[in-house]
Amino acid sequence: MSETARAVQATAPVERRAAAIEAALEAQGWKAGEGIAEATRKVEEEWLPANGARLVAKAWCDPDFKRRLLADGRAAALELGFEFPRHHRHLVVLENTPAVHNVICCTLCSCTAFTIIGLPPDWYKDLEYRARVVRESRTVLKEMGLELPPEVEIRVWDTTADTRYVVLPMQPPGTIGWPEERLAGIVTRDSMIGVARL
Ligand code: FE
Repeated sequence: MSETARAVQATAPVERRAAAIEAALEAQGWKAGEGIAEATRKVEEEWLPANGARLVAKAWCDPDFKRRLLADGRAAALELGFEFPRHHRHLVVLENTPAVHNVICCTLCSCTAFTIIGLPPDWYKDLEYRARVVRESRTVLKEMGLELPPEVEIRVWDTTADTRYVVLPMQPPGTIGWPEERLAGIVTRDSMIGVARL
């Protein structure tokens, strides 16, 4: 193969690249296959938006818990038995109010508090969402079906590797007095990202 041909050689498909990395890890004694199987199981069974929904519902019902959740989201989530990878050093809980609406993104890639709100949806990873939600958040939210009154301030939070966010949506007035479990059932992933209201 000539130098030129080598330079333009196509990158292998993602499956082959992933298999090559897995093989290299196995050769070093890392049990990559087991790690992938375990992570896949956790994504499907444990790291679900239902976790964040429980945090939100408890915060709506229990003012002391809400105070702890807003002061240190990670510690409050650990209280309920949820887990974090070591590098998720902070979970910052952003409280929506009638005057302030919070929305999260990851301008660099796709970071979320995935053990709490689940893996990011595809649109969250799109360049378009990541670039535009920062610069024209009101328009992007409107395009996604959330039209906020002009007097509501929108705050956009850019996730980093060690600081993850979750939005604490406002409790719908018609649900005051509902039991916590029933409340958890109405909290959606999108409301905890901040692209929807309840
Ligand atoms: Fe990211």
